[in-house]
Parts: sequence; structure tokens; C-alpha cells
Amino acid sequence: MTAVTFSPLSNSLAARPLAAVTGAEIQAPLISGGHVRYANLDYGASAPALSVVSAYLNEILPYYASVHRGAGYASQISTSVYENARNIVRDFVGGRPDDSVIFTRNTTDSLNLLAGCLPVVDGRHAGEVLYLDIEHHANLLPWQGVPHRSVVAEQTIAGTVEVLRRELAQGDVSLLAVTGASNVTGEILPIDDLAALAHEHGARIVVDAAQLAPHRRINIAASDVDYLAFSGHKLYAPFGAGVLVGRPDWLDAGTPHLAGGGAVREARIDGVSWTTGPARHEGGSPNVLGAATLARATQVLAAIDATLVSGHEAAIREHLVEGLTAIDGVTVHHIFEDSTDTIGVVNFSVEGYDAGLVAAYLSAEHGVGLRDGRFCAHPLLKRLGLPSGSLRASFGLGSRLEDAERLLAGIDALRRTGLGWDYVVDSGRWVPANDTRIYPHWAPNTPGTAGAAPCSVD
Ligand code: PLP
Repeated sequence: MTAVTFSPLSNSLAARPLAAVTGAEIQAPLISGGHVRYANLDYGASAPALSVVSAYLNEILPYYASVHRGAGYASQISTSVYENARNIVRDFVGGRPDDSVIFTRNTTDSLNLLAGCLPVVDGRHAGEVLYLDIEHHANLLPWQGVPHRSVVAEQTIAGTVEVLRRELAQGDVSLLAVTGASNVTGEILPIDDLAALAHEHGARIVVDAAQLAPHRRINIAASDVDYLAFSGHKLYAPFGAGVLVGRPDWLDAGTPHLAGGGAVREARIDGVSWTTGPARHEGGSPNVLGAATLARATQVLAAIDATLVSGHEAAIREHLVEGLTAIDGVTVHHIFEDSTDTIGVVNFSVEGYDAGLVAAYLSAEHGVGLRDGRFCAHPLLKRLGLPSGSLRASFGLGSRLEDAERLLAGIDALRRTGLGWDYVVDSGRWVPANDTRIYPHWAPNTPGTAGAAPCSVD
């Protein structure tokens, strides 16, 4: 087998990162010795923080104090930063003036919160939640605990919209829950059309924008989207923080997400009257730094021309898809035959190799980090004929074509000459045998003994 050559990149826009991110020059140890710059192709799981966000964090950290709980100078500043973060996030997603902006732990938390706020009449849920089989578990499992209806997506987006239209036309759907972009393949769904469809049939729509928001501009007022959920850690902000933005009526009447201090108007020894607004669902001390950095990241993103972002990702994506397709035995996966827009995600398999083994090989022998497994989307992976998983390369503002080149060179070498090291299964994960690579002293687990990520393996 001869080595595949890839097209020249030097004058391409995507040869350089679009924005500076932390950790861009991390040196990853190789199993055979030496180091190489870490090629982070795992933005879809958690993206590195923007350098601007990191600097902002350092600026505000000295003022970090209690929120809503103190008259002191630092507490007042922290409270102001936290409350202002809501306005910044509302602006970022084009929210309506009365939309609630609730800070949560992550997208999963946001969608669970909404599941507790579905309208109830005479003690029964008024209508069902409708969702597709392509969803991330975060936009699938919360609805299984309430009246729901699930449908299998078609092989085209147009066909899938038709399937949803038919289901909605049957009536009794209160909420259509749909992803903005698939976390498995990156394919984007037509949320404007789906919002119109839901409303035509008297339903509301929630968009899981965990993957979409970091990569495309969203305007929920213009798109007529009722609720939007996303996470800071995928949007170039550190810390676990998420957000749910949307219409206040259901949220103000719904079950408080976290019963506790801050969520009440008045508490008695044996009863309570809950407050309304975001505080109703934000019981306990809030994650002010998570909210503040999430908001700062949205400002940075909003200041970058959206076409530059999509162009940068498309250039890397095209290069990667072209290169992978040219390698014998590699298959690139899609859900839809007619998708026209895809965020910075490429999903693929290498014939003859377990996805987890390829991921371990790429990390140990090429310093490439990507995701393997079923991506917390078990129903979709099963339907795509990938019950034991596949590989996902994902990228964004801090990525460069050289990251894609490294992945391509690694896969090409794998197909031509095979693995350069022995690998064993340890605690359900493929790891290099006799791994003596050293972690920094403050990360004491040695490779192979670190706990496996549940969604990666599952
Ligand atoms: N939805 C999608 C589309 C995702 O990709 C993810 C995470 O990968 C989630 C929801 C869950 O996000 P989080 O882990 O921040 O709750």
C-alpha cells in the first residue's frame, strides 16, 4: 500500500487558529519516547478555553465572593458579574427581553430542568414530548420520565422533517426536543423550519445547542425557538456551567430544579412559597465563575465574523474528509444523505480496528486526542450499524490544519504498517502495554489507570 498524499495547505486560512486558546502548545508524551505538540481534536467533548477568557478569569478571580448573599464590596461585584452574565448570554442567543436565562451545571442539567417544567393540568402532563432517535442522551433520557413519543430519523433531513410533521399533526405534542447539530456527525438540523412546524401544531420547541452554539450564530427570537440549552465547556469557557434560555411561563410555574436557599420567597418549617425567575431554579450558591466565563466566551465568539468561523471549520473538515476517504479501509459516517451544513466534526471508522484501539494508538504514537465510543447516542450508533462505536474528530477556533494532518498521517500509517506498539485492554479501555509516560506531578494517575469516560466506552 502506498502512502496517501494530501493537498498543500500553506496559504489556507485554516493553517492558523482563528483565535488563541489555552493549552495550544501542550507537549504530549509519546509512547516510544519524546514529545509532540498535542493535536486536540476533541473540541466536541470539551473545548479549550479562549485565552481572552482565561485572562478575564484572572482579572475577576480576586473579586470572587458570594453571590446574592453579601453587602461587601467583593460580594457586590460578584453579584453584578453573575447577573450581567445573563444579559450577555441573552444577547448572544438573540433572546427575547422577557426570556429567562437560567444558569445550570451543563446542557444535561438544563434539559432536565425543562423536563420538570412541562405544563401540567389537573395533575397530568398536558401533552407529550416528541424527539428523534439521533439525540444525545441529554436530550433523550430526560423526556423518558414524562409522557413522550420518539421517532426514527429518515435518511434525509427533508424526510425527517416530514416524519416530524406527521407526528406533530397527530396532535397532543407539547414540546419538540431536537438537537441543533448532531454530536456524532456534526450535521446541522433546520431549526427555523422545525420551530415553525412545532408552532403550526401548537407545540413548543427546545433546541439542544450544546454542539451548535459554539459553531454557528443562533437567534432564538428570529428563529422562533422557545428554549435553548448549551454548555460553557464546549463553548471555549472553563468550568462546568450551562444555561437554559427561554420563555418564562413554563419555567416560572415548573418544579424548582434545586430546592434550597435563593429559590424561595418565604420558607416555613413545613412549607414554602417559591420565587419566580431564574432564582426559582438556581437554589444554593451559584457558579459565578462558570457563568461569567461562559458569558465572556460568548462575547468573544460574537465578535468574530460568523462566516470566518464556519469557513475555518469547513476548510479543516473538507481536508479531513478528503484525506480519510482516500485511505483504504476508512469510512466516514453521516446520518443524512442531504445535509448541507456541518460543524467541525468528522466521524469515522477504520476497518479491522476497534475504535478504542485506534484512539489509544493515535494518542500514544501521534499525540492526537480524539473521541471514540458511542458518544452518549446509543440509539443512533446502533441504527448506523456501529454498535461498538466509532471515532470522532472535532475542532473549532483554536484548531489548525496541522492537527488534521497529524490525524491523517496517523491513520495512513496505521493502514500501511499497523500498530507500532502493543496494546492491552485495562478496565475496559485500550491502553499501551508497559506505558511509562509520566503525567505532571499534580495529575497523579498514570495513563491506563485513569477512569474510563462512561460515554466513551458505552
Ligand atoms: N447535547 C449534545 C448535542 C452534546 O454533544 C452534549 C455533550 O456532548 C450534551 C448535550 C451534554 O452536554 P453536557 O455534558 O455539557 O451536559
